[in-house]
Amino acid sequence: MAGTLEGKVGLVTGAGSGIGRTTSLAMAREGAKVVVSDIDESGGRETVRLIEGAGGEAFFMKADVADPAQVEALVKAAVEKFGGLHLAVNNAGIGGEASTAGDYSIDGWRKVLSINLDGVFYSLKYEIGAMLESGGGSIVNISSILGLVAWPTASAYTSAKHGVVGLTQAAAVEYGEQGIRVNSINPGFIDTPLLRSAGIEPGGDIYNMIAGKHAMNRLGQPEEVSEAIVWLLSDAASFVTGIALPVDGGFTAQ
Ligand code: NAP
Repeated sequence: MAGTLEGKVGLVTGAGSGIGRTTSLAMAREGAKVVVSDIDESGGRETVRLIEGAGGEAFFMKADVADPAQVEALVKAAVEKFGGLHLAVNNAGIGGEASTAGDYSIDGWRKVLSINLDGVFYSLKYEIGAMLESGGGSIVNISSILGLVAWPTASAYTSAKHGVVGLTQAAAVEYGEQGIRVNSINPGFIDTPLLRSAGIEPGGDIYNMIAGKHAMNRLGQPEEVSEAIVWLLSDAASFVTGIALPVDGGFTAQ
């Protein structure tokens, strides 16, 4: 049976770990050729190895999404390698420092905004041109439940992720008639290395407290987010654009 993304070329940022890796694998499983990009070269190359091991097609290119020149070169390379661009998952992101707004460092604020919001804008900006030339496409920006509600000690992250929702809606209304759909996915807490880097370990008090904030009383797995992303990328979601879709185990329903 043909996959839902057969014949499509897709680009994933932050694809060397977590949600970006499982999404790249799911896209390849559905038949897309995948351009795997990350600032972490070894993680990105491992994702390509996993895709190829499962019979898919992918190539890695290192790019820092906070640098517009690197993002422009990435999109150009994707088109040169695979002949077009139809799908993009703008996923690269960091958690950033944990402090209340009054104590948040200026450098810390700028770092989070430069990757989590500017990086999504640069990606989208260059992807749109390539998609228009490829006859249309579907973009999924990775926001967060913190693009819909707030979390204490995460003002920069919360602001950037709310910005991603606004940017998604803006691009959706601008490009709907030209065949480009733009949506965001807003995951709840997902068990990935991003949480480990914040010191959140399975079985720990913070982990259990966070689990309890979800109606399902657990964290999500990255594969559960990827399946929603693949649906939004596919033609099964052909009349869906401009939405912010929580994949959050009921976090925002409470
Ligand atoms: P992850 O496992 O840490 O993966 C993120 C990847 O992005 C890492 O490989 C990271 O490399 C890379 N990266 C960081 N800065 C980059 C840059 N400037 N340019 C290119 N790549 C960069 O995180 P994840 O949990 O899968 O998160 C993926 C996305 O989902 C993020 O946007 C995150 O905000 C969002 N999200 C996550 C959760 C969650 O609970 N995990 C919840 C909601 C939303 P390094 O490892 O070298 O930094």
